[in-house]
Amino acid sequence: MSDPVPDPLPPPPGVWADRWFGIEGVGYRQLLFTVAFLVAVLLAAGEVTRSALIALAVALVVLIQIVAFAARSRPWKARLVLLSPLGHMLALILLQAGTSTVVNADLALLFIAVVNMSLQPGRRAVVLATLGAAAVVAAPFVLSTTERSTDFVENELVIVPMAALFVALGAWGVTNMLQARTEALLRLHAGQRATLADLRDNRDELSRTSENLRATVELAMGLVEAATEHAIIATDSKGAIEIFNRGAESMLAYARADAIGTSVEHLYDPEQVRAALAEEGLATTDEGRMQVLVGASGPGQPAVREWNYLRRNGTRVPVEVTVTRRPELEDGVEPGYLFVATDLTQRREAERLQDELIGTISHELRTPLSSVLGFLELLGSDEALTDEQREYVDVIERNAKGLLRLVNDLRISVQVSAGALRLSPEPLDLATAVRAAARDIDPVADAAGVRLEVDAPAEVVVRADPVRLNQAFENLLSNGVKFTRRGGSVTIGAHEGTLAAGAPAGVVTVRDTGIGITPEDVDRLTEWFYRTRTARDRRIRGIGVGLPIVKAISDAHGGTLGIESALGEGTTFTLKLPVSGPPR
Ligand code: ADP
Repeated sequence: MSDPVPDPLPPPPGVWADRWFGIEGVGYRQLLFTVAFLVAVLLAAGEVTRSALIALAVALVVLIQIVAFAARSRPWKARLVLLSPLGHMLALILLQAGTSTVVNADLALLFIAVVNMSLQPGRRAVVLATLGAAAVVAAPFVLSTTERSTDFVENELVIVPMAALFVALGAWGVTNMLQARTEALLRLHAGQRATLADLRDNRDELSRTSENLRATVELAMGLVEAATEHAIIATDSKGAIEIFNRGAESMLAYARADAIGTSVEHLYDPEQVRAALAEEGLATTDEGRMQVLVGASGPGQPAVREWNYLRRNGTRVPVEVTVTRRPELEDGVEPGYLFVATDLTQRREAERLQDELIGTISHELRTPLSSVLGFLELLGSDEALTDEQREYVDVIERNAKGLLRLVNDLRISVQVSAGALRLSPEPLDLATAVRAAARDIDPVADAAGVRLEVDAPAEVVVRADPVRLNQAFENLLSNGVKFTRRGGSVTIGAHEGTLAAGAPAGVVTVRDTGIGITPEDVDRLTEWFYRTRTARDRRIRGIGVGLPIVKAISDAHGGTLGIESALGEGTTFTLKLPVSGPPR
């Protein structure tokens, strides 16, 4: 995938210096001495007095050269830097001892050995070089192989070692400096190589990441395009459309090219947007409108709301829009939004048909049921009935009334879902109302072996719809009886109280000693057709519309419905109604 990065760094120049002057160059450096020595021997051939010594000297020099080239390990090479010149000095002594006159080339050779030795870092080399030089010049006199004047002797013995010291110091200083520089250069070079390797790794990593990113983006775009049942629209922070998928094209009859760059707001029903702005108290500015469209959405936190979208030809499409904030990609660029709209037309139509069906059935059931109840009342008033027959009539009446309550619930549920729950409020004493409801449910409680009690010591007058309230109380009471075991009790109470805002309220409580409800279920009880698992498992009769209706009736009155429950201990429903009646 990635071509190897060429190495733009040649070895630093210090490395050559190291090869020659450093430990690595020990073999080559001796070569100069070896050649010069052999030449000197040839030149002095006529003056050889003791050829054995000369042969020994030559053998020593050649041996040193071989060993210096052959040495492989660094420690050995390091040793040879010192040992080879020492050997050379010895060879010089032998050379002088084996010839009759002073070989003039001796001094030059001696200084080659001195310099070679001083290339070894450390002061020891300087000392040894100086002493070695002194030994070489002193040897002929000590060994008495030459005759010279004392002055000359003194001069040589003093001046040559001093010169050797001076040269050795110079060579040592230069070597040290060169070595320090070479090391610094090598360090720098190593650093550069490491940085280069890092850069290369980073570049490879980056190109891998960008490949992955491209694949992910392609996948995401593929998904967006494949979701033809949903309109997926992405905008910038101001609402300008950037992505408009095929689903959006077919749902809203806009070509993508025309939609991109326009404001997403143009897709919304302006009347609905105005109403939403007024409802939320937002200003009718571009910012206010955008705010109402995106709601409380954040990154990974969707805001869901139903709207009407406008097709290009002006017709409306009911949609459920989920808005999420897009992730922040660049510093300083405000992230935009993602709008995912689902067409609700079919769902709405299905709901309308369902409501129509329920409305028709419940209406059709009510008429014969009312007739059944009317005749049952007539039958019940017949004096000639035996006790057993009267009991049968009671059972029939109880069930028929239960059926009537269910039919009424269904009718109301249709009204509530159509937003058409009508109230006829009038002054009403809640104490009287709860007693009446308890009377209606009493036969059911009796049959279930549950004690029904009323706690309404004083009049509590509110403005409310008596028929609807009676329905709410009966729903709460019949639930209490249904979900309480034989021997338990249900108590309905009416008292004065206040709403959260402090306004005076009539408070009705229905408390039972029944099976109780889990906290998770409590949160969902007012959803249409929701029933707890226990209710379903125990096959307790019901369809899950009783509590949503109580809630709808409470809402329509401007009241509140509270639910408190403990599993196995019982449940208390608290209905608070404003004394002043439903909001106008
Ligand atoms: P239904 O009683 O027809 O099932 P509701 O809407 O009245 O429908 O009640 C919904 C569910 O709430 C019930 O199925 C039951 O699980 C639970 N519930 C309601 N009232 C009580 C109660 N007093 N005690 C325990 N559970 C209750």
